[in-house]
Amino acid sequence: PPPGGSMVDLFEASARRAPERDAVRYFDATLSYGELDDLANRFAALLAARGVGEGDRVAVYMQNNPQFLVAQYGAWKRGSIVVPINPMLKARELEYHLNDSGARALVALEGLYEGVAASVVRGTSVEHVLTTSELDFLPEGDLPAPCGRTEATPRGTEDLMEALRATEPDGAARVPVSPDDTAYLVYTSGTTGKPKGAVEKHLNIAYNAEVYRTWMQIGDEDSVFGVAPLFHITGLVGHAALAGAAGIPLVLLHRFEASEALRLIEKWRPTFTVGAITAFIALMNSPESEGRDLSSLEKCYSGGAPIAPSITEQFEEKFGVYIHNIYGLTESNSPTHATPLGARAPVDEGTGALSIGVPVPGCEARLVSVEDASEAVPVGESGEFAARGPMIFSGYWNKPEETERAFHDGYFLTGDVAVMDEDGWFYIVDRKKDMINVSGYKVWPREVEDVLYTHPDVKEAAVVGVPDEYRGESVRAFVALKEGDGVTEDDLISYAKERMADYKYPRSIRFLDEVPKTATGKFLRRELRDEAR
Ligand code: ATP
Repeated sequence: PPPGGSMVDLFEASARRAPERDAVRYFDATLSYGELDDLANRFAALLAARGVGEGDRVAVYMQNNPQFLVAQYGAWKRGSIVVPINPMLKARELEYHLNDSGARALVALEGLYEGVAASVVRGTSVEHVLTTSELDFLPEGDLPAPCGRTEATPRGTEDLMEALRATEPDGAARVPVSPDDTAYLVYTSGTTGKPKGAVEKHLNIAYNAEVYRTWMQIGDEDSVFGVAPLFHITGLVGHAALAGAAGIPLVLLHRFEASEALRLIEKWRPTFTVGAITAFIALMNSPESEGRDLSSLEKCYSGGAPIAPSITEQFEEKFGVYIHNIYGLTESNSPTHATPLGARAPVDEGTGALSIGVPVPGCEARLVSVEDASEAVPVGESGEFAARGPMIFSGYWNKPEETERAFHDGYFLTGDVAVMDEDGWFYIVDRKKDMINVSGYKVWPREVEDVLYTHPDVKEAAVVGVPDEYRGESVRAFVALKEGDGVTEDDLISYAKERMADYKYPRSIRFLDEVPKTATGKFLRRELRDEAR
């Protein structure tokens, strides 16, 4: 059943239940539920004093920080809508997000504000800017390596922490928030056009936080390792909402950096995580990974991108930790499918894909014809995955046509091609738009990547289609090798050729030190395609 109350009601209940428990573990510092709730109350009062309230958008532009949660819970107490913004966005992109969402307030890291936001903010709807430092919750003089600040960065228009200290909590600032109210506008990364703001209700978020809690068997003794960014749905629901609703600690990773991640896992011994597979690959290949203890991560999940079955094996061999596959999207507030805790996901014989698991409770999953969404696809055949249920978003912000196109018969069309086997396990074949057409034959990049990952020298592999005079498109792989290995393009091509049909194996390989990724750890296929062209 859907949980009773909005995300802010659930968070406040956690704070009342155990005010002294750690809410956030940030580097070596901690912030309790009571302290976080007090700061959020102050932030709500601060917004009220500046006339920001119900339905107003509050943009948050920062890396993972305790201040993100202060702003989020404070804005929700006011009935405002939180707009998380990717800190990697450049000025022009940021301007678009601020104007598209009509944000009235902006909370930003001071370095990002001065370096990026200050030049565009005046031309947007933003009336109030609060800046903060990534060091504000750390003890004096403590400068952890991953922090970017090397010298005093200039302050923005109003300092968040000073303003919070000067503002007394005010009960009148807290308005009733219903599960049906909008919690977030979460912007898609825009691989298929202008980024769109997915309208996510408190109910959607609370529902999937509950899915995580029950399916991953989260109890009071658990804690979350926050490896994904908080501006992305994985971080928002799989880290912040789960921890806040369950009342358990969130170990917040400022931004992904393998050696700091290894240190924090050993120090805080978190039990649950969900992140991009590229983060797990980086942990495994870090020069500091030998003999490290990751055994606390009994509930380890990877979502957001396909996992090559060989990677889960290598990870388990090295750390004794099994990576469970989980699937979801921004529009579904993440999980629609997950591998049940403790189960081993099977591999599909036909496509070689590792199963994403089975639909989570409440998710109605349909596979429909890629050409005609009203046609159902039988068991064992591939079709576009369409989903309905309490986790599905209600549409794109101010984009009625895109919203209309995204749904068919009440089901959200995900754009992913999937298969279900006779036992009900689902497999993602690939994204519809990533399909490569070689002389009329369909090639799915994931299948080729899975084969490349079985080669012992391959660290990362991303496959795209490039224009080809004779075949229409041909298969190209971008590969990063493990350190010091001398494998050649010909070696890898023949390795793949021995293992797959003639039209599938890559005809060209480009070696890179690292395959370019988004901030969420996904390969930037569009950039690779553009580069190839
Ligand atoms: P955009 O929608 O703008 O292209 P995006 O890739 O950042 O951007 P997200 O909502 O973050 O969008 O990601 C959802 C997509 O990630 C899914 O549609 C699917 O293609 C892929 N994905 C998520 N989990 C898995 C998984 N376990 N296996 C394979 N693919 C996955």
